[in-house]
Amino acid sequence: MKKVVKFGGSSLASAEQFKKAGDIIRADRERKFVVPSAPGKRSPDDTKVTDMLYACYALAEEGQEFKTELQAIRNRYQEIIDGLELQLSLDKEFQEIEKNFREKAGSDYAASRGEYLNGIVMASYLGYEFVDAAEAVLFGPDGEFDSEETNRRLRERLQNTEAAVIPGFYGAYADGTVKTFSRGGSDITGSIVARAIKANVYENWTDVSGFLIADPRIIYKPEGIETITYKELRELSYMGATVLHEDAIFPVRREGIPINIRNTNAPEDNGTWIVESTCQKPKYVITGIAGKKGFCSVNIDKDMMNSEIGFGRKVLQAFEENGISFEHVPSGIDTMTVFVHQDEFMHKEQQVVSAIHRLAEPDHIEIEGDLALIAVVGRGMKSTRGTAGRIFSALAHANVNVKMIDQGSSELNIIIGVANSDFESAIKAIYDIFVRIQL
Ligand code: ASP
Repeated sequence: MKKVVKFGGSSLASAEQFKKAGDIIRADRERKFVVPSAPGKRSPDDTKVTDMLYACYALAEEGQEFKTELQAIRNRYQEIIDGLELQLSLDKEFQEIEKNFREKAGSDYAASRGEYLNGIVMASYLGYEFVDAAEAVLFGPDGEFDSEETNRRLRERLQNTEAAVIPGFYGAYADGTVKTFSRGGSDITGSIVARAIKANVYENWTDVSGFLIADPRIIYKPEGIETITYKELRELSYMGATVLHEDAIFPVRREGIPINIRNTNAPEDNGTWIVESTCQKPKYVITGIAGKKGFCSVNIDKDMMNSEIGFGRKVLQAFEENGISFEHVPSGIDTMTVFVHQDEFMHKEQQVVSAIHRLAEPDHIEIEGDLALIAVVGRGMKSTRGTAGRIFSALAHANVNVKMIDQGSSELNIIIGVANSDFESAIKAIYDIFVRIQL
């Protein structure tokens, strides 16, 4: 059994946090492949090392002096090294970083040093081998992550390795130029490593005990999710539930490797299991609720729309021509509604309206802004009757007017559109009816 363990920035923000991570790793002999993030915040008003690096590099790029800023970064690592009582010097590394900053090695290179240095510290602390991610995580010329070549290289590199630390967040182009994933990308690296070594589980250690059924900023102490499928997670992440980087599920998903989200500060908690499929009955009909504010609906009316072939395509073409992606398209006999992100749409609304008129010749177009979309997700909904009914009666009781409903054909989720101002009360009503008041 092999486990890949990824630790997030807050889990490695100080020597004290490093020790917790070390204890977790040493408590299980299978935890042999470690993927660290850069040191995160030690307190709410602290700055992440990644952000310090971006800021420091911005000075270098403008040709300004950056010694003080680089020294502050160095101090963060020194504090950890001293706190762990390691005989490790990062002199050489910092000299090289300073030189590369002066030569304008790029902001991706700069940001990646956070993970790189933390990887060196972690490897020294654990006595594991350090494997630079730039050697094995490859990006193609278009900047896209090359999953197959990476998998081949990484597998080969780690084949005869007993235990290794592989820094998260970055890789390199074929010519060695460093490139990072998007922010929070160490989660992806953990997943890539898990796939390459065919791990039995990918443990992702963070500062919360997994996913919660709903956002704790809206629901007071919501319950945690024990098990969630990759598909359910996709739906919830897309609608704003964060914890894990969205792209982190793809590499492990192909191999059927489960992800276990765990809390470094509460290692006794089981956290959330993210799995391909499970026969375990979910505790509630719904697995989770997530949502986002800031949508617009564009309502298009045309008599006899139902019999006009190609009408939908023409309408969507108007959005495409203006570079706007759509979220949902519920339709009726003579109406079709397109949901879009308000901030994207706002500046182009009149161009889109005239394009719809030009292309589809509708009778009437009406736009409504300040809408929110809420996704109610759950594999349990498929086998349960009356889920939609319960949602709507709960919303009616809470005086929430439902503007749109869209149930995916997989019966895995129901999307509801409400006014931005009803967003919180709608989520509360749905949470209460399924979790607090169980029938
Ligand atoms: N350190 C990077 C960030 O702050 C990547 C990560 O933590 O996953 O986004």
